[in-house]
Formats: sequence, C-alpha cells, structure tokens
Amino acid sequence: MNAHRNPDWQGLFGIVQGAGYEELRRQSANDLVSMDFPGYSIGGLSVGESKAEMNQVLEFTTPMLPTNKPRYLMGVGSPDSLIDGVMRGIDMFDCVLPTRIARRGTCMTSHGRVTVKNAQYERDFSPIDDNCDCYACRNYTRAYIRHLFKADESFGLRLTSYHNLYFLLHLMKQVRQAIMDDNLLEFRENFFEAYGYNVPNPKNF
Ligand SMILES: [Zn+2]
Repeated sequence: MNAHRNPDWQGLFGIVQGAGYEELRRQSANDLVSMDFPGYSIGGLSVGESKAEMNQVLEFTTPMLPTNKPRYLMGVGSPDSLIDGVMRGIDMFDCVLPTRIARRGTCMTSHGRVTVKNAQYERDFSPIDDNCDCYACRNYTRAYIRHLFKADESFGLRLTSYHNLYFLLHLMKQVRQAIMDDNLLEFRENFFEAYGYNVPNPKNF
C-alpha cells in the first residue's frame, strides 16, 4: 500500500468552529480535545470578518487547545495574518492566496505587493524582489515576466506562483528564527513597515 494511503501516516485534525462566539468555540474545542486528535484546526475564520476580529477570536481560541499538538489556522495566507497568527499560537496555515494572486501577476515582495503585469514594469530589468533568491528572481526580470503574461504564456504565472510560495516559506523561516532569537515583535514591526502595512501593533503585545 502506498505509505500516504496508510492511516498511520495521516493526521486527522479536529476543526474548531463557533464563529465569533467564545462560548461556542469553547464547547467545540472541549468536545474535540476530548477525542484526542493528533492536531486541531481553527475553522470559520478569514471568511469576511475584519483582521481585528479574527485576531480577537484567535486570542481566546488557541489557549483552549493543547500546546503539544499542532494548531492549524485554515484559509489564511497573507503575510500579516501569518505573523499575527503565529503570535497567537498558530503553527500551521494553508491558503490559495499566494498562487491565486500570482496567476493575476501579483507578487508578494519584501517591499510589498508588486503586480508585474502593470505597464510600469515594461522596462524594469530588476527581479521581482531584489531580496529574494528564488529561481524566478535569480533568473528572470520583471519586464520578461510581464512579457510572458502579455503573451498569455503560462510560464509567467508559474514563475510568479513559485516566487510567492518561496516568499511565504522564507517568511516563516524568518519567523521561526525570530522566535528563537526572542525578537518576534521587532521582526513584525520591521516587516510590516517594509511591506507597507498600516497596521498598529496590537495592544496585547
Ligand atoms: Zn523570488
């Protein structure tokens, strides 16, 4: 049998629901924790509520879950939400965002979003992100990738997708290092400023 079809290789996570209601979240979390899952997901967030609301729900929900099991926030993939989720005890994320925006020509960079399809990049011979060492940034320019999009050549969206996934994996690597160096708050502030987020430091941190 293929190892990945073997139930022993799979982790069935319990998904905590309860919208923005603390008591419903508690009831859901308690019931799921009593079933002793290998990990716990937090669902019903990133479905249209504000970031402040999402952070508030995370603040009371993650402490309901065991610290020795992975905690997974579903459907969240923007850099600010990843960092703010980690600060509230989240270990894992998944999201279509990086590849969905990449297919429209939008890249996440260390200086914020760049839409390479835009006319302003027609003669921009710099990489998508001058601080990135991914395959796309090492080998191709914004102008070339823009040309690929204009020519409906699918290699363009493969390059931007690759870059965005690399960017987020690299971001999480930096977050792990910042936790080990005990300077996550400082990292967050610097990252937010460079990315162009106008988000004040949450009062609890
Ligand atoms: Zn790159």
